[in-house]
Amino acid sequence: MKEGFIQKSAGVGSEELTQINRFTRREFTADELYVFSVVLCDNEVDRDFEQFTPQALEKLGELFIGKPGLFDHEPKATLQTARIFSTAVKTVEGKQNTCGEPYVQLTARAYLPRTQENQALITEIESGIKKEVSVGCAVKKRVCSICGKEDGRCRHTRGEHYAGKLCYFKLEDPADAYEWSFVAVPAQRAAGVTKQFAGKTGNGGESMTLETLKSMKPDGITLTAQEVERLQKEIGSLEELAEGGRKLREEQIRSVIRSAAVLYPGIPAAVLQKSLSVLNAEELAQVADASRRAAHPAPQPQLAAAEKTAQNKEFFI
Ligand SMILES: [Zn+2]
Repeated sequence: MKEGFIQKSAGVGSEELTQINRFTRREFTADELYVFSVVLCDNEVDRDFEQFTPQALEKLGELFIGKPGLFDHEPKATLQTARIFSTAVKTVEGKQNTCGEPYVQLTARAYLPRTQENQALITEIESGIKKEVSVGCAVKKRVCSICGKEDGRCRHTRGEHYAGKLCYFKLEDPADAYEWSFVAVPAQRAAGVTKQFAGKTGNGGESMTLETLKSMKPDGITLTAQEVERLQKEIGSLEELAEGGRKLREEQIRSVIRSAAVLYPGIPAAVLQKSLSVLNAEELAQVADASRRAAHPAPQPQLAAAEKTAQNKEFFI
């Protein structure tokens, strides 16, 4: 699993103090700070059948420096107490992931000021209550582990085996790291890595969240504050489009009813309304178009009109 966790705390060295003070408004002394280690993620294939490559973990490590840690995904400024000040990618000796590759972890060092407000959290971290960590990030590339094609443009299904090899997405080229959160309940299904894709299918990034949601399994979906914001924006623009579609539909139904009043005056409008309401957009457009043509035939071109008149005359003779 890719869920991170908090490791044992350790004292602050002078080198770390220098690193930390790059992020603080004033100089802190070692006594004023609580410093701990966090495993953010690793190169294990996760429950979504996705895996960060060691190169992606390196890049994520750079992106996570300076990022605040939240409690239980509450993005309130007052709760953004811990901050990552350094990261490292470590190969764990003698351990392999499920693919038989050397097991690699992205670890971070984080600090929080030893204030009265933070004391409860420090106690929870030290006692092991807050031991899970979930992270949110955006990745540009997803590569099929079997054939190397990107973004699922192949016939392989993630989670299936091909010639004994598991199919999963290799996540490459991280674009952004948003946040990391302490998760109070250990081993919670929702804990883990929240990934967003800003890759080649990107339409300015905004339609990505719905795409990501559609491709996710229903359990264990965790959204970052940024994803929720994008989702809200996207739902807003979809609502506008839907409103436009609804108006067009109403207009088409009215048009058919008007035409029908000429063509079939005996059919009540309510009956037409009822039968038209079950048609999909394309069917309704066809009916509207056909009934308009039938009720209001286009004027004939002059030449054709002359011929018709001549024929009619012959007929009458
Ligand atoms: Zn493939």
